[in-house]
Amino acid sequence: MNRRKFLLYTMSCGCGLILPGCKTNPVTERRQLLMYPEAFINKQSEVFYKNFIRRSKISKDKENTELMKKIANDMIESIDKYFTKLKIPNPTSNYKWEYNLIDDIQVNAFCAPGGKIAVFTGILKYTKNKDGLAAVMGHEIAHAVAKHSAERMSRAIATETGFAVADVMTGGIAGKTRQAISEYMGLDILDIAVMKSHGRKQESEADYMGLAFSSMAGYDLNESVRLWKRMHEKDKNKKIPQFLSTHPSSKTRILQLRKWIPEIRSKFPYTI
Ligand SMILES: [Zn+2]
Repeated sequence: MNRRKFLLYTMSCGCGLILPGCKTNPVTERRQLLMYPEAFINKQSEVFYKNFIRRSKISKDKENTELMKKIANDMIESIDKYFTKLKIPNPTSNYKWEYNLIDDIQVNAFCAPGGKIAVFTGILKYTKNKDGLAAVMGHEIAHAVAKHSAERMSRAIATETGFAVADVMTGGIAGKTRQAISEYMGLDILDIAVMKSHGRKQESEADYMGLAFSSMAGYDLNESVRLWKRMHEKDKNKKIPQFLSTHPSSKTRILQLRKWIPEIRSKFPYTI
């Protein structure tokens, strides 16, 4: 294939059809560039999480710890059942799920790659109840299930290498791309997965998938709207909860959640 033909083929097909680094999100069907090796990011995440837990104070609040564990287990089980029912590979089958409630006033929560969940006690005053906590956890678990960190890393590498299509085409990942990946592997996972905000598309996708997980696990989807409203009220008082520094709150988001709820209920019914 000559260069012109190659470029035409590339442009007309879209990256998803020809690049081995492109995948389709199995829940939302959005095309994603995923060429950053998942095994590496999960390994980095494991090291980060172990250190994070060692440095943190684990909460002694038994009730909320149990609640958090129940929500996580309900969601993990429903995710597994969802993919089994559809007979498609479960993207979380290699995850080593861990979850801890951290005694910290920060209004925050995360799920690092590979299923490493942390909820800070500071966010409980906004989540208020099991459905509110499920909304936060579903959203965070969604970022991990959708492999958003690996996608962001892949995009950064693609930008840095001038979107090395040819590299990916010939032998998967080669030359400059391989070098860029190895450089990126040295980065702090905390920076990649937890501290930086995800893009608008990823946030929106995590909202949608989070609702789907809440629905399949039997939680009240309307509480997600109330939760973001509570966050938004705090926002107006100019004291922005840390959670919002990485998860922008907006009226559009709340309207979108409201619009999605009936669709989610019928597409992702209770499964456990
Ligand atoms: Zn998010």
